[in-house]
Amino acid sequence: MGLLLSESGLVGNAGHAVVIAGGGPTGMMLAGELALAGVDVAIVERRADQNFAGARAGGLHSRTLETLDQRGIAERFLSEGQVVQVHGFAMTRLDISDFPTRHPYSLGLWQNHIERILAGWISELAVPVYRAREVKGFVQDDSGVDVELSEGGRLRAQYLVGCDGGRSLVRKTAGIEFPGWDQATTNLIAVVEMAEKPEMGIHRTALGIHAFSRLEYEIRDGNVIFKDDGPIRVMLPDRSGGSAGDPTLDDLRAALIDVCGKDYGVHSPISISRFTDMARQAAAYRKGRILLAGDAAHVHSPVGGQGLNTGVQDAVNLGWKLAQVVKGVSPESLLDTYHAERQPVAARVLRFTLAQVALLRTDDRTDALREAVAEPLSMDEPRKRFAARLSGLGIHYDLGEGHPLLGRRMPDLDLMTANGPRRVFSLLHRARPVLLNFGEPGGFDIAPWADRVQWVDAAAAGPWELPALGPVTAPTAVLVRPDGYVAWVGDLTHPGLAKALTTWFGPPC
Ligand SMILES: Cc1cc2nc3c(=O)[nH]c(=O)nc-3n(C[C@H](O)[C@H](O)[C@H](O)COP(=O)(O)OP(=O)(O)OC[C@H]3O[C@@H](n4cnc5c(N)ncnc54)[C@H](O)[C@@H]3O)c2cc1C
Repeated sequence: MGLLLSESGLVGNAGHAVVIAGGGPTGMMLAGELALAGVDVAIVERRADQNFAGARAGGLHSRTLETLDQRGIAERFLSEGQVVQVHGFAMTRLDISDFPTRHPYSLGLWQNHIERILAGWISELAVPVYRAREVKGFVQDDSGVDVELSEGGRLRAQYLVGCDGGRSLVRKTAGIEFPGWDQATTNLIAVVEMAEKPEMGIHRTALGIHAFSRLEYEIRDGNVIFKDDGPIRVMLPDRSGGSAGDPTLDDLRAALIDVCGKDYGVHSPISISRFTDMARQAAAYRKGRILLAGDAAHVHSPVGGQGLNTGVQDAVNLGWKLAQVVKGVSPESLLDTYHAERQPVAARVLRFTLAQVALLRTDDRTDALREAVAEPLSMDEPRKRFAARLSGLGIHYDLGEGHPLLGRRMPDLDLMTANGPRRVFSLLHRARPVLLNFGEPGGFDIAPWADRVQWVDAAAAGPWELPALGPVTAPTAVLVRPDGYVAWVGDLTHPGLAKALTTWFGPPC
């Protein structure tokens, strides 16, 4: 096997426990999770550096912020972004400021900054990144995967994870089907200079929706106020049908004239690309030693801003499970829970996105339908349900019948512990599971799992309240997974605890 040069110029090892194809947001989050768990992981990334032209995703939603908070890195993003109530369903604003979370908002922060911050985090965790290299193919056998790289290199890994975006070579090579819906609309999105200033904001015409904004903006009194100068971000329907290859400045000019009647003297493009409302999802998130996450597993219209968020949360669901399997703590079957839990989440994202794309059509009948949908959304109960779904706070993994916390995110309550006051999320910073006991100390022997599971006797200040569901009964004890979801609720004498510990964190030793 050949040796490779990493970004830092150090000679890399040609074997890793896990190789991740693609160092976008999903790949980096997954690498960070695996590195935290002590797994030898490396990323192979086509781009020579983390930069890309344009802006792509505009921010992070509440559950993603919570997820980053669970690792102690939310502040890095919050300090650079702008807090905003951005959730909406087909243009109906859904305020979540009354949701029981420390982050009852979204964060406006362009994807290039999100990626830069994630890259800084994984660099601290010493994750090697093989840059300007592509995964070209792979062959899996009983014990691992031989990953073929561009320019003749090879890496051997126990597992290969495709975080290589919507056109995923890993997904295609693995022969994983990608069923769904073809595109009905194509749009151009560009960051450009314009000689004549267009009217900023979202505009509706018979041809569809188009929008002008600036990359630089401020949130004042809950409203987006664009800076007076700087590059302009344009989004508009492309009725040319989307010719093959990347769109050009001439394509953008033609679309501006088609939609707005003039081209505003557009010049000096920083980026021009197309996006569509195609919606597809991988039929399987795992095939043997190959796994998929992020856009490689699901693509849809950017309406609603769900893509990056869903990918980052895929990574956090998969990371600790893959780490335990690689370390021999858990059987391979634990990886099947990744598909079982995350596939339905993205399926629901796809359905909601399809619905929003349909409701954003600009004909009179759709206008009437959108108004009809907006009316119930002004009421508390529907608003909370829809917003819980869009923010990710309402995610519920099917872990069986029981207390409402089971399979839902653990709230970040203030705790009093023997070591002083703690937040629940601070106990998850090292991505280790925690058994929180709110009842009498003792009553269960954690020793057979003590190398894997933290035990904390605590008093919780409450309130025990879940987004959209409302107040729930205070539990006596909860077992919280590294991804922050509750795996078990009960009291320590209940025989189900040992079973839950074995299911999620391996047999007793
Ligand atoms: C216009 C637009 C607006 C959007 N707005 C939002 C939003 O507001 N909110 C939101 O959550 N999402 C939004 N999205 C979606 C978001 O950008 C994606 O969901 C997100 O980037 C997916 O992250 P990823 O890491 O899974 O894939 P990607 O970001 O696509 O990263 C894949 C990486 O893999 C690399 N790669 C590809 N093939 C190979 C290979 N063979 N070998 C090695 N490396 C490879 C690529 O260079 C890339 O770095 C938007 C997207 C677009 C286009």
